[in-house]
Amino acid sequence: MSDLLGLSTQIIDEGRTDELTNRVTQQLSEVADGIAVVESFGHCVAFRTDSDLLVFDTSNPAAGPRVVEALRGWSEEPVRTVVYTHGHLDHVGGSVAFVNDASARGFARPSFVAHAAVLERFARYRLTDGWNVAINRRQFGPRRTVGLTADSGPAGSRARFLPDDVIAPDVVFENRLTLKAGGLDVELHHARGETDDHLWAWIPSRRAIACGDFLIWNFPNAGNPQKVQRFPGEWAAALRQMAALEPDLLLPAHGLPIGGRDRIKMVLDDVATALEHLVEDVVARMNAGETLDAILQAVSVPPHLLAKPYLRPLYDEPEFVVRNIWRLYGGWWDGNPARLKPPGDAELAREVADLAGGSVALARRGEQVAREGNLRLACQLVEWARAVGPDDAEVRAIASEVYELRRSSETSLMARGVFAAAKGTEEGP
Ligand SMILES: [Zn+2]
Repeated sequence: MSDLLGLSTQIIDEGRTDELTNRVTQQLSEVADGIAVVESFGHCVAFRTDSDLLVFDTSNPAAGPRVVEALRGWSEEPVRTVVYTHGHLDHVGGSVAFVNDASARGFARPSFVAHAAVLERFARYRLTDGWNVAINRRQFGPRRTVGLTADSGPAGSRARFLPDDVIAPDVVFENRLTLKAGGLDVELHHARGETDDHLWAWIPSRRAIACGDFLIWNFPNAGNPQKVQRFPGEWAAALRQMAALEPDLLLPAHGLPIGGRDRIKMVLDDVATALEHLVEDVVARMNAGETLDAILQAVSVPPHLLAKPYLRPLYDEPEFVVRNIWRLYGGWWDGNPARLKPPGDAELAREVADLAGGSVALARRGEQVAREGNLRLACQLVEWARAVGPDDAEVRAIASEVYELRRSSETSLMARGVFAAAKGTEEGP
């Protein structure tokens, strides 16, 4: 058994949460005969066929060359086919390194296979470039973002969110595609989950599934507050479809590969159950006419599921998924009549500050509430105070202190990133 499978077995079977599972070592491990994983952000999964290599995903722009180098330490065969599990930058961004490797070795350029909506995603990234650069900066922090975007370009120019040299897919499909790669049959299945352009692959002869981000060894990224719609119900359905095939090897694009039919079945079932629980509960309450706020107060994931080593809310979190389910099935209005056509933030803040006796009094109340442990209320109070008195040194200091308390009390990278940015300093999540 390879080290990675041994490690995931130990972590899952013992329920260990002290071990780092999302490692970015840029190292390759052979996890079964002719099947390898390069642990990157995200991983590259490679299959050796009779005559060449088939790979899933290329990691991000900065890591692409190191991923190719790791792959070349394992095999010198041409990479004939690159499959994108979806169009996120940490999966497609390293693609140009594969093309460069092929031309340096005198091999034909690999063919790039993906779901058709990857092309629409690329067009959207170009349309909303500034927005995506800004939200990635908040989500991952100012320093980390450098590794996710191209660091090429003249000094002083801002890197584009989707670098121009990322390779667009040249073979696309809608629902299902069967590939024959050097004697290896690969079934590609489209399913919506983290994205609308996602696929997962079943390789019957190896009883293996390359599942992309359908498993990330964290609570599913189905709620992301700053990004386009995710699809929690369809995500769960895809996991159920995978489980029904009874795979012996599961190869995710983040976290550790998993071996063993029963173990994989349990993991897929747990993640699907957590998502189904949220979807069913939210939809039942929407059908009963509840507001978004009432639903947010009432719905949660059973703690025993959240405690699993592959479901901890360290990246995304259930509260954000609840909001995304509301957005998927409802409208943007949350059901509170005051918020259908609300006063502007500045007007509301001024009114509340006047009632409280000024922005400093409001900020001090925020600080007091924070010390009592109610950080949700504290952030609202200091945010009002800061809107009225943005240049007041005491207000700014209190706001920064309250958001630091908030950042350090949160578990998810997404919440930590937003609260770190709210401190007004150049620190990451
Ligand atoms: Zn990913």
